[in-house]
Amino acid sequence: MAMPVECLFCGIAAGDVPATIVLDEEQVVAFLDVRPVFKGHVLVVPRAHHVTFPDLPVPLVEPLLVAAQRVAGAVVEGLGAQGSFVAMNNVVSQSVPHLHVHVVPRTKGDGLRGFFWPRHKYDDDAEREAFGVRIRHALA
Ligand code: AMP
Repeated sequence: MAMPVECLFCGIAAGDVPATIVLDEEQVVAFLDVRPVFKGHVLVVPRAHHVTFPDLPVPLVEPLLVAAQRVAGAVVEGLGAQGSFVAMNNVVSQSVPHLHVHVVPRTKGDGLRGFFWPRHKYDDDAEREAFGVRIRHALA
């Protein structure tokens, strides 16, 4: 896919924008987030320009997720983190429109609590089942 003009992460992947690269592969690049949640926070991106996870061509899913898995191991092994949080924003809360997997080193007591995710309740079993049906239909 062509590199869109002014895509920041395409620029990093191409070596045109400075970044601290930690993994440089044929299809995937990983680099330090410039404003880390915790030091060592890595962004893992497909080299080709795709905006969201659903947009990502299937052959690129494995290289991207394998790289994210390796980075999640590396922040434990290399930084002494106890674990990690691995996530991606798609459209909502996505500030850079080039798919990126956040790998954030985590350690108990690091102060990050629950990511401020509000939790909701289904009204009843029927409503929960109806949501399941809608997603199953979309997957079929
Ligand atoms: P999101 O808000 O999920 O789209 O995440 C975008 C991430 O990109 C944020 O965590 C930013 O700190 C990070 N970011 C923005 N510009 C740069 C840059 N030039 N180099 C590295 N990370 C960046």
